[in-house]
Amino acid sequence: MKPSGPIDQIRHASDRFAPYAVRLREIFTAMDLAYAAAADKCGFHCSGCEDNCCRTLFYHHTYLELFYLFSGLEGLKPERRAALQSRAIDVCRQVEAAPAESETSQRICPLNISGLCGLYAYRPMICRLHGIPHVLQRPDGRKMVGPGCDDFHRQCGSPGDAVLDRTPHYAALASLEREFRQAMGLTDKLRLTVAEMIIQFIY
Ligand code: SF4
Repeated sequence: MKPSGPIDQIRHASDRFAPYAVRLREIFTAMDLAYAAAADKCGFHCSGCEDNCCRTLFYHHTYLELFYLFSGLEGLKPERRAALQSRAIDVCRQVEAAPAESETSQRICPLNISGLCGLYAYRPMICRLHGIPHVLQRPDGRKMVGPGCDDFHRQCGSPGDAVLDRTPHYAALASLEREFRQAMGLTDKLRLTVAEMIIQFIY
C-alpha cells in the first residue's frame, strides 16, 4: 500500500513532528507507568507467550503513532531497517492472501524479533496497554470493559473489577492527535497495522 498524499508530503518533516513527539512521549510514559502499577497490583508479569499481543492483528488509527514509528525506523542502521521492511512486506502479503481469517493468527508483527520488540520505545499505544483487564469511558458516555490476555488470567485469575482505566490515556492521545492533524492538514482516516505502517515508510 503506497502512502496517501499527506503522509508522503510530511513523512520526512521531522522538524515539524519533533514538538509533538516530545508531548507524545509524555503520554506514552504516563501509559507505561499506569500499566506497570496495574500489573504490580495484580502480580502480573508479561514475559511473552504463545498467544501474545504481537500475534494479534491490531489496527492503529493515529498519525502520531505512525510518525513516531517512522522516527524509530529512521534511527536504525540501514541494514536493520531493510530487514524489518522485508519482514513487513511478507506479513502484508500474508494478510492480503487471507483477508477473511481471524484477527489472531500465527502471523507475527514484523517488529517482533525472537520475542522482543525491535522498536520497543516507539511501539504504538495498544502494544503498551494490551493484556490487563480494562475499562474505557467513551466520549458518547458508553462504558466498555475488556478482559486481560490469557496469560494474565492464568497468572492472576479474574479480578472483580477492570484493573486499568484506559480513558485518560485514550483522551490524551486523541486530543494531541486532533491538534497534530489540524496543524499538518491531515484529514484522511487512518487504519493501519504495524506492518502497513512500515510499508508506508518505504516509499
Ligand atoms: S510493535 Fe512491538 S510490541 Fe507492538 S506488536 Fe509489534 S513487536 Fe509487538
